[in-house]
Amino acid sequence: MGDKRVNNMKKKVIFCDFDGTITANDNIVALIKHFNPDGWRDIVEDVLAERITIRDGVGQMFALLPASMKDQVIRQAIDQAIIRPGFKEFLDFCKKNEIEFYVTSGGIDFFVYPLLEPFDIPHNHIYCNGSDFSGECIRITWPHACQEPCTNDCGMCKTTIVRQFPADQYERIVIGDSVTDFAAAKLVEFVYARAELINKCEELELAHATFDTFYDIVEHLSATINSRTS
Ligand SMILES: [Mg+2]
Ligand SMILES: [Zn+2]
Repeated sequence: MGDKRVNNMKKKVIFCDFDGTITANDNIVALIKHFNPDGWRDIVEDVLAERITIRDGVGQMFALLPASMKDQVIRQAIDQAIIRPGFKEFLDFCKKNEIEFYVTSGGIDFFVYPLLEPFDIPHNHIYCNGSDFSGECIRITWPHACQEPCTNDCGMCKTTIVRQFPADQYERIVIGDSVTDFAAAKLVEFVYARAELINKCEELELAHATFDTFYDIVEHLSATINSRTS
């Protein structure tokens, strides 16, 4: 299974994806699909096939929507999202066990913050992209773009954030589901994967466990912590 037990000596820090991980589906795709502007499918295909960068893809998709649709777009994004079961319990578990928790999301501020609002996560532990509705079309802004040595043009650069937590001090854990998590997954000590990210972990032989709900992750983490004390 490639299910190596994680190292227990260092402080655990978790980097958790949002779309398709904290939420059941990819909110960006669901949102664009709902409004269905001409040309969005080709852009999604290009991103998934890694023909264009994630940043270009996300930017291009939102540019298909007029800024005048702001209220509708925000309402739709929030209304369609479903939080994956066990998320609250997982956050409580992290708190109790002094595991640092960060949301590292390629999603957009106008749905990421409202959807996380009930969970009491400090804002400086949530990384996501920004938005600007002041022009003709929706423009995505990139306050956390790639820094050296990342040249992937990620948009919200997960590896740049992970690198702020050195491996000699931290045991770094990524939770994610897709192509947008590959680069960070390759950097860290352990991965909780679902969907496409499982295949990538297997292919690259990364230390990982699969999950369906956050209860699965709590169970797996508990076992690693208990194996230390017993
Ligand atoms: Mg995702
Ligand atoms: Zn990057």
